[in-house]
Amino acid sequence: MQVRITVSFPYEAPVSQSLFDRASVVTPGGVNSPVRAFRAVGGTPRFMVSGAGPYLTDADGREYVDLVCSWGPMILGHSHPAVIAAVQEAVAHGTSFGTPGAGEVELAEEIVARIAPVEQVRLVSSGTEATMSAIRLARGFTGRAKVVKFAGCYHGHVDALLAAAGSGVATFGLPDTPGVTGAQAGDTIVLPYNDIEAVRAAFAAHPGEIACVITEASPGNMGVVPPLPGFNQGLKEVCAENGALYISDEVMTGFRVSKAGWYGIDGVQPDLMTFGKVMGGGFPAAAFGGRADVMAHLAPAGPVYQAGTLSGNPIATAAGVAQLRLLDDAAYEKVDAVSAEVRGLVTAALAKEGVAHRLQVAGNMFSVFFTDTEVTDYDAAKAQESFRFTAFFHSMLSQGVYLPPSAFESWFVSTAHDAAAVERIAAALPAAARAAAEATA
Ligand code: PLP
Repeated sequence: MQVRITVSFPYEAPVSQSLFDRASVVTPGGVNSPVRAFRAVGGTPRFMVSGAGPYLTDADGREYVDLVCSWGPMILGHSHPAVIAAVQEAVAHGTSFGTPGAGEVELAEEIVARIAPVEQVRLVSSGTEATMSAIRLARGFTGRAKVVKFAGCYHGHVDALLAAAGSGVATFGLPDTPGVTGAQAGDTIVLPYNDIEAVRAAFAAHPGEIACVITEASPGNMGVVPPLPGFNQGLKEVCAENGALYISDEVMTGFRVSKAGWYGIDGVQPDLMTFGKVMGGGFPAAAFGGRADVMAHLAPAGPVYQAGTLSGNPIATAAGVAQLRLLDDAAYEKVDAVSAEVRGLVTAALAKEGVAHRLQVAGNMFSVFFTDTEVTDYDAAKAQESFRFTAFFHSMLSQGVYLPPSAFESWFVSTAHDAAAVERIAAALPAAARAAAEATA
């Protein structure tokens, strides 16, 4: 692949490169989460040393406008004074007790108060743990084994949910990664996203066998691909008709796209929900919750086992509570407005260069697909000209704007993205759009 990059400041990143070289000796691929390695776009992953408001600073001393926001959590921007103060206050009292604590009650109350379908909630440490536990609970509650998921939806690296293969209707998932056995993936049914008839057909083919349908409330992990009107409601109804649970994964959308996440936008009532990212204020905190009669099956109240040494950690809960309490209507209006402004700038720049693209939106989350047709499922997402994204990405990076290093990820903004940050993005876009136009596969 040949990519032309317009460079406006020294593009080499020697300190990041040397850290990456060292990391690659002691850590597989040099990173602790694969997308950070820049494999999809090439080049040197930037090792960040600090964040303030809408900016990140790398180990070479370069500042970037951050459009990743730690993959969603930093909705108030980096180093928000109230979150930092809450963490400092908490840390002064100790870092982990292995007992119940007030902070976890406060965070749970905050979640239950915001999201009506969540009558009870259990705190965990990552989104992966949340979805894994929700599925175990759904299986324990229904006494059934099978799980329906959608191609292109990511629910963390839960063995059963890494299955994304299969075409047509009700295909049994094949493991997508070595290490996931056929047995672990064999109860997973992978269906095309936004295809309610495929869901009906799966239930018809497996009567009384499906424990739950899990879906991203509005997918952001194949790029932003919102549910078509009525799709989530259809899932809810098919599940209810068949005695299965409807699990809405709001790890990405929860507390980000509205006070009550995607539920606050579409109002479809799930049986169980999963959360992470924003609710931890940048610390490892996540949760699953929902109907009290279902949650009552969880140990120690019920027989379905689930536990965690660091669950409800006092520092993480302090950060999460501080962040959530600042996320009022005005905060979401601000994030929505910044998102709309950046989207407008991106689409104008690409249109000016005649680059075929679709800007897809879910609340204040958005991403650009380099295609001229609407993207409603994973196959369509994969059909885009992602080589154009590579050129676009590197041009933006070279001009001090940090985008997700993949064409299949959502972009995120924060309340801290002020006029100066938006101006920097605007200044970088014309050259990036040109690079996208000139890129060849
Ligand atoms: N579910 C969704 C929708 C996600 O976007 C993610 C992570 O990006 C997860 C689950 C997994 O969360 P974590 O990375 O905290 O394990």
